[in-house]
Amino acid sequence: MSADLHCHSHHSDGALAPADLARRAADNGVTLWALTDHDTLDGLPEAAAAAADHGLDFVAGVEVSVTFAGETVHVLGLGVDAAHAPLRDGLAALRAGRLERARAMSDGLARVGIRGALEGALALAPNPESISRTHFARWLVARGHCADNAAVFRRYLGWGKPGYVEHRWATLGQAMGWIRGAGGVAVLAHPARYRLSPNEEAALLTDFAGHGGAGIEVWCAAHGATDEQHALALAREFELAPSAGSDFHAPGESRLDLGAVPNPDCNPAPIWNKLQASTRELPST
Ligand code: AMP
Ligand code: MN
Ligand code: MN
Ligand code: MN
Repeated sequence: MSADLHCHSHHSDGALAPADLARRAADNGVTLWALTDHDTLDGLPEAAAAAADHGLDFVAGVEVSVTFAGETVHVLGLGVDAAHAPLRDGLAALRAGRLERARAMSDGLARVGIRGALEGALALAPNPESISRTHFARWLVARGHCADNAAVFRRYLGWGKPGYVEHRWATLGQAMGWIRGAGGVAVLAHPARYRLSPNEEAALLTDFAGHGGAGIEVWCAAHGATDEQHALALAREFELAPSAGSDFHAPGESRLDLGAVPNPDCNPAPIWNKLQASTRELPST
C-alpha cells in the first residue's frame, strides 16, 4: 500500500479540483488517500466519489488552523464526519476571518509599493472565504515580484514581513474538540515548521497529547532528514503515531508530488495502518 494523508484542492489553496487529485493519486500509485483542505470540508463529497471511481481507500480530512503561543500551528483531522455541526460551524468561523486578514495583507503590501494584491489574489481563489497567503504568493510570482512562492514568503508574507498580518485562529482545544467530536483522529502537521522554542514545542506536544492527539507528521514536504528524526523522537516521547503526507498543492509548485511521500516501517506503528483498517471496515454496499 501507499498512503498520502495530506493534500489540498482548489477549495482551499490547492490548484486542482478534488477529482483531478484523485486521478493523480491513483496514477501515482496511492492506495490510501486523504484530502485535507485548510479550514473547509467542501471538497470532500467530490473527492470521496472520485476516490471510489479509482478504487482508492479514502479518508475524509481537514487541516485546521490553530494559534498556539502566538504561532500558527496546523492540526490535521483524519476520518472526520463532514456533517458534524460543531466542526462545520467552527471551520466556518475560521474562514470568516480570512477576507479581513487578506485586506490587511494587501494594505501591508501597498505600503511597500505593491498595489492591487487583494484583487489579484481573489481572482486566483475560487472561494473568496478560503483566500490564503498562497493565493497572494501565486499572484506576486505571476507579477514578477519573486521567482517562486518560497521567495515570496521570505520577502513578503512570512512572519514580520510587509504582507504578514497577525491573526488569531482556533485554540488547540477548540480544534481538537471539533476533530474528535466529528469522530476523527488528530495529527499534528509538519512540526518542524513552527517557530517555537524547545519549551514551547514541548508544551505544544504535551497539550496536543493531553487533548487526545493521535499522530504526528514525520514524512512531509516541509521536513528534511533531521526534521524527520526529530519528529520521530517526538512521536516516541509523546506516544503519537507517525504519519506521512505530501502536502501537495499544485503541479510544479510543491516539492513532493501527490504520492511521492515515503511510508517507511517505523516504531511507534504508523497511523496509516490504523486508517487503512478502519476504511476497510466500512460497509462496501
Ligand atoms: P494561510 O493559511 O493563509 O496563512 O496560508 C498558509 C499556507 O501558505 C500554507 O498552507 C502553505 O501552503 C503556504 N506556505 C506557508 N509557508 C510557505 C513557504 N515558506 N513557502 C511556500 N508556501 C508556504
Ligand atoms: Mn496550504
Ligand atoms: Mn500546513
Ligand atoms: Mn497543508
